[in-house]
Amino acid sequence: MSVNQQAHTGPPYGQPQPGYQGYQQPAYGGQSLPGAPQSQYGAYNGPMPGYQQPVPPQGSLRAPPTSGAPPPVSGASHPSGHVAYSQFEHGDVQNGIPASAAPVQRPPASQPFLPGSAPTPVSQISTFQQYGPPPASVQQLRNHMAGMTIGCTAASAPPPAGLGYASVPPVSGSFSATGSGLYTPYSASQGPPLTSVSQGLPLVQPPFPGQTISTQRLPTQVPGFTPPPPSTGVGPSSYPPTTGAPRPPAMPGPPLPGQTVAGPPSSQPNHVSSPPPPSTMAGLHPGPPMSGLHGPPPPNHPPQPGYQMQQNGSFGQMRGPQPNYGGAYPGAPNYGSPPGPPPPPKRLDPDSIPSPIQVIEDDRNNRGSEPFVTGVRGQVPPLVTTNFLVKDQGNASPRYIRCTSYNIPCTSDMAKQSQVPLAAVIKPLATLPPEETLPYLVDHGESGPVRCNRCKAYMCPFMQFIEGGRRFQCCFCSCVTEVPPHYFQHLDHTGKRVDFYDRPELSLGSYEFLATVDYCKNNKFPSPPAFIFMIDVSYNAVKSGLVRLICEELKSLLDYLPREGNMEESAIRVGFVTYNKVLHFYNVKSSLAQPQMMVVSDVADMFVPLLDGFLVNVNESRTVIASLLDQIPEMFADTRETETVFAPVIQAGLEALKAADCAGKLFIFHTSLPIAEAPGKLKNRDDRKLINTDKEKTLFQPQTSFYNNLAKDCVAQGCCVDLFLFPNQYLDVATLGVVPYQTGGSIYKYAYFQLETDQYRFLNDLRKDVQKEVGFDAVMRVRTSTGIRATDFFGAFYMSNTTDVEMAGLDCDKTITVEFKHDDKLSEDSGALLQCALLYTSCAGQRRLRIHNLSLNCCTQLADLYRNCETDTLINYLAKHAYRGVLSSPVKTVRDALINQCAQILACYRKNCASPSSAGQLILPECMKLLPVYLNCVLKSDVLQPGPEVTTDDRAYIRQLVTSMDVAETNVFFYPRLLPLTKADVDSDSLPAAIRNSEERLSKGDIYLLENGLNIFVWVGVNVQQSLIQNLFGVSSFSQISNALSTLPVLENPFSKKVRSIVDTLQGQRSRYMKLIIVKQEDKLEMLFKHFLVEDKSLSGGASYVDFLCHMHKEIRQLLS
Ligand SMILES: [Zn+2]
Repeated sequence: MSVNQQAHTGPPYGQPQPGYQGYQQPAYGGQSLPGAPQSQYGAYNGPMPGYQQPVPPQGSLRAPPTSGAPPPVSGASHPSGHVAYSQFEHGDVQNGIPASAAPVQRPPASQPFLPGSAPTPVSQISTFQQYGPPPASVQQLRNHMAGMTIGCTAASAPPPAGLGYASVPPVSGSFSATGSGLYTPYSASQGPPLTSVSQGLPLVQPPFPGQTISTQRLPTQVPGFTPPPPSTGVGPSSYPPTTGAPRPPAMPGPPLPGQTVAGPPSSQPNHVSSPPPPSTMAGLHPGPPMSGLHGPPPPNHPPQPGYQMQQNGSFGQMRGPQPNYGGAYPGAPNYGSPPGPPPPPKRLDPDSIPSPIQVIEDDRNNRGSEPFVTGVRGQVPPLVTTNFLVKDQGNASPRYIRCTSYNIPCTSDMAKQSQVPLAAVIKPLATLPPEETLPYLVDHGESGPVRCNRCKAYMCPFMQFIEGGRRFQCCFCSCVTEVPPHYFQHLDHTGKRVDFYDRPELSLGSYEFLATVDYCKNNKFPSPPAFIFMIDVSYNAVKSGLVRLICEELKSLLDYLPREGNMEESAIRVGFVTYNKVLHFYNVKSSLAQPQMMVVSDVADMFVPLLDGFLVNVNESRTVIASLLDQIPEMFADTRETETVFAPVIQAGLEALKAADCAGKLFIFHTSLPIAEAPGKLKNRDDRKLINTDKEKTLFQPQTSFYNNLAKDCVAQGCCVDLFLFPNQYLDVATLGVVPYQTGGSIYKYAYFQLETDQYRFLNDLRKDVQKEVGFDAVMRVRTSTGIRATDFFGAFYMSNTTDVEMAGLDCDKTITVEFKHDDKLSEDSGALLQCALLYTSCAGQRRLRIHNLSLNCCTQLADLYRNCETDTLINYLAKHAYRGVLSSPVKTVRDALINQCAQILACYRKNCASPSSAGQLILPECMKLLPVYLNCVLKSDVLQPGPEVTTDDRAYIRQLVTSMDVAETNVFFYPRLLPLTKADVDSDSLPAAIRNSEERLSKGDIYLLENGLNIFVWVGVNVQQSLIQNLFGVSSFSQISNALSTLPVLENPFSKKVRSIVDTLQGQRSRYMKLIIVKQEDKLEMLFKHFLVEDKSLSGGASYVDFLCHMHKEIRQLLS
């Protein structure tokens, strides 16, 4: 069998795309890949046709063999020399893990998993969830598509064949093999978001820049709706009740050819089947000039019991006057004057343009109440801002993978035309809410996980068993592979294995395999990892109290190291180093009465002066460690040493892990630019004059390649670096961050660290960081079905070839964004499949593979693409792409490219999907209607358009942070959440309804909270009632509120409790502890706060939302003309 397929060499997109790749992008996070080996796997270019639908083959009708074993098969062999992840040698198969780790039960390989029976080959991770029938769930077939109508789409795009529920492969409500799944009819209350359609913005005179906007509209007409054409949706009544009936065939696989998840019942007026009359265009229309007066919102919600019609619609709704806030719209002085006699004022009302708050609210109302069931291909999940539960029925949860679009163009021409990037944001070790089931651990026995012979894809729900179950055809490359004897199982009359529901890898989107020794470095099961704490003890660190704080904290924190499942104690060993210009190693062997210090002053050639006693078990060495942590602050209390080294510290940790032959993490606490004579010595090269010049990019680049090479060595050893920085001045985050960044680690920065105000935040971050779930020595590969392939990767990792993402450590908060491009045509029937496989070492030293599968739809009509996009994910990708672009291109070029790409996305929609209408109308696709506002936030972010208060280190820090963020984090980072605290219901657990990020939404009489994932601001208006101030701050007047507060005082009154509980809730939702900043209106700190009111014009020159929308409109019109 030929396994060495030639890798693709031709770029899928032959020509540079205008405005998109208009600037040079370094490969993978700035590393160049000269002569990088091509993939030797055939996953991406199998010559065979795409994935076939799981129709029972003829062979399955043959009488099965009478024994449990399959008929003898010839030629069944494992491919030689082609095991998982080729850097690991193939060797003898061994089972088990080293004695020091938790014993893993390995039952007979051929035994099927039966819920509740023992022994079981499915080991549970961490908890004892039974893999068994979940409660019957409500049939859920919701799709954004159902919720949106796009101008003329229904008329211009032929309806896909075979629409309707009846032909959709049923999503089982149950995992039991008895067919007891219940289908609940689709009811209006579960309906998809029924938002309106095209938004018309007749911006007759594009007012950007310096022009005025003519706001004209036809008011007051209620949009008329036409029932959806029969082909776009069959009501629930056509879905046969199946209680007691035989289970329909073909369960969780992709829908049958040509199927689309159909819309809601036809009574829901969400479709316009023909070019709508002007009155159906929500928003502004030519007509009598009625500035400031707006028609009713489109009826974008069906009347539903218990659901109040939203009247503050995303478009066209009049906003009430802002009490106590008479000022003009601050960002747009030209538009500020009130309506009056001639000439009528020309101003686009911010309430008439798409509102993020409204979109978030609508999605919450429409999709928050029912679980998201993953059984159907290409379903767009609820927004990240919506609380929802996920039921895995064959596709990975959106907590693990989110895509920019769930319906991808069949051809690269279409993809190029639309300019919609095809990307997946993957968080392989994401934390799940307690109600959801962790991935099951599957053991396929001594021969390891069952995989496709050719592309090495792992067994998954989309593999098709044929010939009575003796072989399976790969859903990624179509290669046919023999089923290993121990894995054989008979097929039922539908062609499905009879153990389908008993095997996570056949019925679920996400699961884990226990890896064999073949998947381990040097053919050896790994030792448990180690944590090394490396503390800067130079003058600043000691004087600020930081050293003492860290040592005190470690005494208790070491009892909370990550543990595997139910293990009593952590398998992780610990070690300690302190340093300034020299390094001090500590022997904390349990047999010692006192710790011993060993000083290494030759930092040019770092070595570890002791092997035995450096890395120890916390429990065994408890007394010696406690003694050390007591002594360290005393030993350096009188230090006068101000200089530090940095690279030798990492080298020391790396050498220690090498000597111990394990992976691990270095926790480095560092305060200053490393100017002492040593490898990796840096100079202060900060220069703000470079901003807005062609040399600005150098501020983001490391000043030496030394750290890139060090990072490479660290990744090879599985040495992950987490860096805690406490700078009082520039310390070159761009360079110091290279190793943390490329090893999959984290950077935390506490500028001007002060014990009183910052210790709580730092300690919370440290605790979270030390305790969080992390995998070591990780390698991730994303396989795709024929037609697309992963071409680009964004995140904190290292790549030594073009396909494998390597991370010394990968924690539960890190994401990797993967971009896909076409290398062939896709088909609507087959759809497209992704399989993300993460090989890693658990915190107890167990080698595992975590698999996530996701099936997407494919389309030949652009309208289908635009109906199934996810703007939050799109913004995540675009931000990461742009933030990498600044490494190699002037910031202005990057900004222009971003604007151009989005203009092209929207122009393509307008040209191909929207109804013909005057060029004066801006028409946005329903699921991209927030693209302009979010894009503007990215454009005016600190990395792309810094204000005067933003330091070079801040920008480098943010750039690296964003690159690892998930979609929820980028969402709130770019468009912060603004909550009116004084509107909070003190008797309820809920948060007050968020408001839009604009100064004109703030009232002088209220208190607001703004959070962006890194900071929480509490803004207090000058006219806030004295009693509220007293209740929240414990002082009697506005002037007595202190800016220096870093926490809210604990006061025994309902308002104080409520606000503190809101703050705690928000802190709990974020991976980092947010800094609390009190801002008084008209105080100097208010400038900082206003920076986050992202709908307004920014001080650094960023456009207001209104202005930017007009600008985008102009760009789109230029593209269309
Ligand atoms: Zn394959």
